[in-house]
Amino acid sequence: MLYIVPTPIGNLQDITLRALETLKAADAVLCEDTRRTQILLSHFGISKPAFRYNENDPHSVARCLEALKSGKTCALVSDCGTPCISDPGWKLVKEAVAAGIKVSSLPGPSAVACALAGAGITGGAFTFLGFLPRKPGKAAKLIAAAYALDHPVVIYESPYRVVKMLELIAKTLGENTPVVLARELSKVYEEWLRGTAGSLAAELAKKSKVQGEFVLIIDRPAGPEREENNAPDPYF
Ligand code: SAM
Repeated sequence: MLYIVPTPIGNLQDITLRALETLKAADAVLCEDTRRTQILLSHFGISKPAFRYNENDPHSVARCLEALKSGKTCALVSDCGTPCISDPGWKLVKEAVAAGIKVSSLPGPSAVACALAGAGITGGAFTFLGFLPRKPGKAAKLIAAAYALDHPVVIYESPYRVVKMLELIAKTLGENTPVVLARELSKVYEEWLRGTAGSLAAELAKKSKVQGEFVLIIDRPAGPEREENNAPDPYF
């Protein structure tokens, strides 16, 4: 049995009771970084063998699959948030499903849901792009294509590239494109920056050092289509 177990994105108190129970009951924990996961486990008094799961190494995927096939109950975690969401895990889930192994996905922390809920932009459709390709041309194409769907677009970005990303958004969609930046969610320095791609790029560029983790949400310009977008599902 394979359990997909979300872990906190910044505040250890956000672990769920079920995540703790599942980690305690598992035969093994499959993780991105064993040291990071051991810190989490020991914080909650859980002593459990933790094995590295490396999605880019077919041997690692095969080893984890063998453990599952032999009847072991494994809990898959990533460094933070929900495994498989811009994090390793999906290949193992795919292989497990193909091998007829039962998979259960626990609900829990994920930066995309947390940011979108606090953004106050939509209660309906959105397009999640995760991390964009490093090449500006490719990234710009994706941003433009996603924005053309007329939904807010959600992007994960590192502090080192967030200014460049805002500049790219400004160049691709226009300086005045509304953007919400959710920084350090659930941490002591949680911060919400609301403005335009141009204004936020300029604001962050003034800082000597940009720090923290970011979720960027590109909003639609205000207008009647926004209201329509957020309208309740007529079939419900
Ligand atoms: N699996 C995770 C999830 O469910 O959200 C995402 C992991 S991905 C490798 C890491 C990225 O998620 C960061 O670069 C950042 O964009 C976003 N992120 C993670 N924690 C965050 C936080 N506390 N505040 C804002 N963004 C965060």
